[in-house]
Amino acid sequence: MEIGALKGIGPKTEKILNSAGIMTVDDLISYYPFRYDVIKRSNINELIDGDKIIIDGISENKPSVFFFNKKMNKMSFKFNTGRNLFNVVIFNRGYLKNRIDAGTKLTLIGKLDKLHNTIVASEIRFGLLPSVPIIEPIYHQIGSITSNQIRTIINSINEFNVEEYVPNYLKEKYKLIDKKDAVVTIHSPRNELELKRSLAHLKYEELFLFMLRMNSFRLNKKNKIGLKRDVKRSLLDSFIDKLPFKLTADQIKSVDEIFNDLNSPNRMNRLIQGDVGSGKTIVAVIALYINYLSGYQGALMAPTEVLAYQHLSNLKKLFNGFNINIEILSGSLKQKEKKDIYKRLQNKEIDIIIGTHALFSEDVVYNNLGLVITDEQHRFGVNQRSNLKNKGITPDILYLSATPIPRTYALTIYGDMDVSSIKTMPSGRKEIITYLKTNKEIKDVLELMYQEIKCKHQIYVIAPLIEESDKIDLENVNKLEEKMTSAFGKVCKIGVMHGKMDTKEKDKVMEEFKSGDISILISTTVIEVGVDVANATMMVIFDAYRFGLSQLHQLRGRVGRNDVQSYCVLISDRETSRLDVMTKTNDGFKISEEDFKLRGSGDLFGVRQSGDMSFKLADFRNDYNILLKAKEDTLDLIESKKIDEYPKLVKLLNDSSNLEVV
Ligand code: ADP
Ligand code: MG
Repeated sequence: MEIGALKGIGPKTEKILNSAGIMTVDDLISYYPFRYDVIKRSNINELIDGDKIIIDGISENKPSVFFFNKKMNKMSFKFNTGRNLFNVVIFNRGYLKNRIDAGTKLTLIGKLDKLHNTIVASEIRFGLLPSVPIIEPIYHQIGSITSNQIRTIINSINEFNVEEYVPNYLKEKYKLIDKKDAVVTIHSPRNELELKRSLAHLKYEELFLFMLRMNSFRLNKKNKIGLKRDVKRSLLDSFIDKLPFKLTADQIKSVDEIFNDLNSPNRMNRLIQGDVGSGKTIVAVIALYINYLSGYQGALMAPTEVLAYQHLSNLKKLFNGFNINIEILSGSLKQKEKKDIYKRLQNKEIDIIIGTHALFSEDVVYNNLGLVITDEQHRFGVNQRSNLKNKGITPDILYLSATPIPRTYALTIYGDMDVSSIKTMPSGRKEIITYLKTNKEIKDVLELMYQEIKCKHQIYVIAPLIEESDKIDLENVNKLEEKMTSAFGKVCKIGVMHGKMDTKEKDKVMEEFKSGDISILISTTVIEVGVDVANATMMVIFDAYRFGLSQLHQLRGRVGRNDVQSYCVLISDRETSRLDVMTKTNDGFKISEEDFKLRGSGDLFGVRQSGDMSFKLADFRNDYNILLKAKEDTLDLIESKKIDEYPKLVKLLNDSSNLEVV
């Protein structure tokens, strides 16, 4: 059934969901929550300023509504919780005014402003809280459709189909509930136990299908045959000699390894691990050059458009004077532009294509793709795999990753992948000095920032990360902008970048920052990966506790890109002992190990750490044991040929047999 047939979905909503690939009710039902909120009364004594609060009570008066900025309004009223009397403000809910009166029972969800005894509510629900906690699924917002709206729509579904993939004997082995029950429950669990049972099925299934593909790919001999190439080393060396800098020893070693892989009769399947700023890009560029010399097309895939465009300008510079056609393919190109690129790719009028995962969308047909490079590989979900329509050629594969993962884990998922490590930084780099500060010490932070601005250096400021809502992200960014403008508005230009901006706007800001026009760039984590501005010497991260260590390390790596001393300031009122390791080391391998150690398992309700390899539900580290089981089970299934009894699984493998881009 098409989603348009559901009540509550108008043409506009339908279009937005469609553009996110959700066409049918069955698609929608498999759009899972990424975490859960437990809705229960907050203990006010435990809250600090700015914390999330959930509280019920009684309105003391009829609200007053104040209109501003044409479309905005602000509603306020007094709220009695039995113990405290709060002021409540909430934006753009003026339409609720007539439903609230003195004595109306309400539950508020919002932020506590302790100083002003105020709750800045983001949500008003009618009625008091029940005595048992409500477990509420939180969904990633889709365009302008919020988590709450998605929940309402999904709750209105009463008929749907799911494919049951896990063979019965395995379901019995692990006592898994039926998939249909699992899917119902994941959207509306009544208690924690139910939720656990549901997740047990769905996580196992996810890892089972993942390992099934992995193992079948690995066991398929066809995937080991490489392309014919015969590239003269001297051509390569003269290219390297002309680069603007001398390669480090580790870069040279990686280049040698890649050169040998590409020239050997076997297919390359290599991962380059190297800390942020260690110079992986140039190694990738050299690989693309070797590939070009042997007459094949090359593709470089980046996780964000910002990064893709940066690669584009970088490559154009490095290949200036060569007769190499380089183009970009990104989701935000106009349909006509895309079509043109498709045509030229197919006709081999393009030698190197850069882009986001749009590179592997259905419509792209390559002429003779010989090399696929995935930058910041850890940022791509492991399930983002697709077929390359490529005239039967199986290209060589290179992954770049700045998140080192311990070797045992790597072996499980990558199996026969070869690994090159870039351990040394380009010479002349200084260690980044990192400070940990609380919000009370903001003055010190502003002082440090002022010092850098005086030296004509540039600064990144990262707004708190809130995963589920672009809207809150935006509010955070705007608040920071106010703060920074009142501090520095007179001395320098301040720019803002966030997920709601389109590519053109983002590009413009990025250009202004690169050119030095903007001194302070306030941003959400959209700048996190790969962005390279050498004159930026300071990184300030608000609410640093919301980030995983590896992600903080990634962010910090945006500075320290030349021989000037760089700084990172982490601002956090909590989890300071966890964050402390950041002040002690700049070594990404060490930080990643610490991250692995610190993260306890089974954190059912916690915000999932972004920057991990992401499955839809399973978590690479916490569910590692399930992954190991799935690995064994799928190997057995394939090797014993039991799989032939499961046509659904065979079909699945055939559909994704050509190439898997992880
Ligand atoms: P990452 O490994 O994080 O992708 P990049 O490839 O973006 O790092 O490199 C970071 C910066 O270091 C870039 O500005 C790049 O030009 C520069 N760089 C790379 N290799 C060297 C080198 N051998 N000597 C000096 N600078 C280098
Ligand atoms: Mg990079």
